[in-house]
Amino acid sequence: MDDRQFRNALGKFATGVTVVVTEVDGKVHGMTANAFMSVSLNPKLVVVSIAEKAQMLEKIKQSGRFSVNILAAEQQDLSMIFAGQVKNHQEVVFDHRDGVPVLPNALAQISCEVSAAHVEGDHTLFIGKVTDIFVKDSEPLVYYSGKYRSLAEG
Ligand code: FAD
Repeated sequence: MDDRQFRNALGKFATGVTVVVTEVDGKVHGMTANAFMSVSLNPKLVVVSIAEKAQMLEKIKQSGRFSVNILAAEQQDLSMIFAGQVKNHQEVVFDHRDGVPVLPNALAQISCEVSAAHVEGDHTLFIGKVTDIFVKDSEPLVYYSGKYRSLAEG
């Protein structure tokens, strides 16, 4: 099995898109991620999977805190910015929730503290204990087969 076949198969799993955000020494760093899921209801835990080559890895290790921001349909530009696909972009402004930077207008802002980190292959799974949440009702940005999509009306 080659890498392309693996990526193609896993790309058939339609997901939302998040931006994971953390702050070290007053400097905010964001990264687009779709490897995100809910882990436990009691206690409230989520997981994000961060590549070993990502700048984000050391930053989360240092801060011990991060937020997961679930993007709305009209926030594709932010997904591209925080995936490093757009270079000369406008400054991004952040809010804070429970002391963690969050993205304004995201569908959900989930503030977490790291409760565990598991190195698995070339990624690290950060388990986040949820400390605060904000939710808004709107349409999500969707990622499927390597492309951005939106939900079709049912
Ligand atoms: P960099 O590449 O240095 O930063 C990412 C970009 O964000 C840069 O362009 C930087 O300028 C910008 N940026 C960071 N902070 C700020 C700020 N404060 N203000 C303005 N701009 C800022 N990778 C994973 O490890 N796990 C995943 O689950 C994952 N899912 C992905 C899903 C999608 C849909 C896409 C498109 C990519 C995904 N990636 C994932 C890849 C990941 O987003 C990129 O490799 C990313 O560039 C890695 O970020 P980095 O932490 O190395 O930082």
